[in-house]
Amino acid sequence: MTQNVRWGLVGATTISREWMIAAIRAVGGEIAGVMSTNAERGQKYAAEFDIPLATTSLEKLLETCDAVYVATTNDLHCAQVLAAAKAKRHVLCEKPLALNLAEAREMVAACKAAGVVMGTNHHLRNAATHRAMRAAIAEGRIGRPLFARVCHAVYLPEHLQGWRIKDPKTGAGVVMDITVHDSDTLRFVLGDEPEAASAMIQHAGMGSGDIEDGVLGIIRFRSGLLAHVFDAFTCRYTRTAFEVHGTEGSLFGDNCMTQRPVGTVTLRNAQGETALPLDQDNLYERSVRAFHAAIRGEGAPSATGEDGVRSMATALAVLEAAHAGRETKVDLGL
Ligand code: NDP
Repeated sequence: MTQNVRWGLVGATTISREWMIAAIRAVGGEIAGVMSTNAERGQKYAAEFDIPLATTSLEKLLETCDAVYVATTNDLHCAQVLAAAKAKRHVLCEKPLALNLAEAREMVAACKAAGVVMGTNHHLRNAATHRAMRAAIAEGRIGRPLFARVCHAVYLPEHLQGWRIKDPKTGAGVVMDITVHDSDTLRFVLGDEPEAASAMIQHAGMGSGDIEDGVLGIIRFRSGLLAHVFDAFTCRYTRTAFEVHGTEGSLFGDNCMTQRPVGTVTLRNAQGETALPLDQDNLYERSVRAFHAAIRGEGAPSATGEDGVRSMATALAVLEAAHAGRETKVDLGL
C-alpha cells in the first residue's frame, strides 16, 4: 500500500483532540472524517481540526476511510467495532475494549474473520521507560522478578469529570479506566500473564453512587510474581511510578504512567545505581506508526485486540475481587 491511511474518528472526543489527531497526521495518516452523535458539535470539531467530513452516520464514515479509531464511551465500542469489521475497515479501539469479556472476544473474532487489523490503544507500551524496563528484565538484569509496584494515582482533570465518574452504563470507574492500563503494562514489561487478583476499592466522593474512584489491588502472575496496583482519580500530588524488584536488582520507573514521553528508570543492584538510557518518543505516534505497519503486513500493532481482552480480563478480576471480598481468577480464556 503506497497511499496514506485514511482514518475515520468514531466520536468527537477529548483523546483525539489532545493526542490522536496530531499523532495520526505526524506519522503520515489522513483524518478523512469524524462521526459524532451531535451534528452541530461534530461540525465544529471538524472545522477546528480541518477534517473534511463530519457525519452522524457511522456507515457514511466507514465509506470514507481505511481504518477507524473508536474512542467513544466504553459501552459503544463493541457495536461500532463490529460494524467496522463488517465493512472491512481496520480498527484501533480504545480501552477498555468493551464492558464484558464476551463482547471483547466477539470484537477480536469479528476483526480476525474480516481479515482486518485490530489494535488496542494501550499507549503505555510505547513509553521509552516501559520498553527499557522490559528489555532489562528480558536480559536478566534484575534476576528473577518477584514483586512489582504500580502507582497510577492521579487527579482526574475537571474536563474529564463526566461519564467516567458519573454514568455506570459506560463502564465507569477507576478500575476500567486506569487499572486496565496497569495490567497491560505489567504484562508487557514482565512478559508474564496474570493469574488471579485481590482488591479493595474506595469511594472517596468523586465517583457517583457505586462508582469507585480509588483501588488498591494485588495481581498474582504465573511466575508467582505479586504486583501491587494503586490507582485513583482523587490524588492531586502523587507521582506515578512503576517498580519491579527481582533477585538480583530492582528497577525504579519514576513519573512514567503518563501520556507524555517523560520519566526515568533507575536500575539498583550490587553495583549501585544506574540510570537506563531512554529513547523518548511520542507514545501515540509510536502506536499509530506500528498500526500503519501492521496494515502493510509488517508486524502487529503495539497492543493487539487480544492484548485488550487480557487487560480487560485482569481489570474485571480486580473489580470482582473487590466486590466479592475474595481472590478472583483472571479469565484469560486460555
Ligand atoms: P470524551 O468524553 O471526550 O468523549 C466520549 C464521547 O462523549 C464522545 O464519543 C462524544 O460523543 C461525547 N462527547 C465528547 N465531548 C463532548 C461534549 N463536550 N459534550 C457532549 N458530548 C461530548 O472521552 P475521552 O476522549 O476522554 O475517552 C474516550 C475513550 O478513550 C474512552 O474509551 C477512554 O477510556 C479512552 N481513553 C484512552 C486514553 C489512552 O491514553 N489510551 C486516554 C483517554 C481516554 P459524540 O461525538 O457522539 O457526541
